[in-house]
Amino acid sequence: MLLRLDVAPRKKILVIEDEPHIVLGLTDALEFEGFAVVSASKGKDGVALARQEKPDAVLLDLMLPDTNGFKVCEELRRFDPFVPIIMLTARSQEVDKIRGLDAGADDYVTKPFSVGELIARLRAIFRRAARPSESAAETFTIGDVKVNMTAHTIDQGSHSEQLSFYEVELLRLLHERVGQPVSRDEILQKIWGIEAGASNRTVDNFIVKLRKKIEKSPDKPEHILTVYGFGYKLAP
Ligand code: CA
Repeated sequence: MLLRLDVAPRKKILVIEDEPHIVLGLTDALEFEGFAVVSASKGKDGVALARQEKPDAVLLDLMLPDTNGFKVCEELRRFDPFVPIIMLTARSQEVDKIRGLDAGADDYVTKPFSVGELIARLRAIFRRAARPSESAAETFTIGDVKVNMTAHTIDQGSHSEQLSFYEVELLRLLHERVGQPVSRDEILQKIWGIEAGASNRTVDNFIVKLRKKIEKSPDKPEHILTVYGFGYKLAP
């Protein structure tokens, strides 16, 4: 029996999308880039496939024939709080983005999207996930909150909360540079793999989510500080 130990396992992407030409285009491009692809055209089937296949990332259409992407996202999050979920949507309204992020999505692309851009985002995810772990950085404290990068949790006394992939990576990046301002552009580039745009609120939305989990008064943060016109800074 031949063992191909030199070949890293292919990252598996689950595509939940009902438009056949988009599924086909994405599958071709992702497979060409070396990803394995599984797909479902209905929300219900997508959730079942996620349980079965344990994908490394999910591309999720907002408008599905049996349900909407927000509901699918919530269901996925019930059994996997960590898997990166990127929503595909024809809408660009900020209200939908916020709703998606609240439902547990990590990122958005608006149709028609560039497949190249989507692949850049996936590469950024797996580049972050694959970097050598710095053992000392796997747990650290912010105020009286203990962050565990391996378990993807934050613990405060007896209270524990799960963190999503992008929440972990955002905290990790801020912690690597603790006490120093990190620009919004750099955060977007390193974690989301995208160029900053004036209208890009992704980082700010994630900061709001993290403050709710970490700060005593999220409106008066003591640890995740805004550096006006620039970005954010972590104060331990
Ligand atoms: Ca659709």
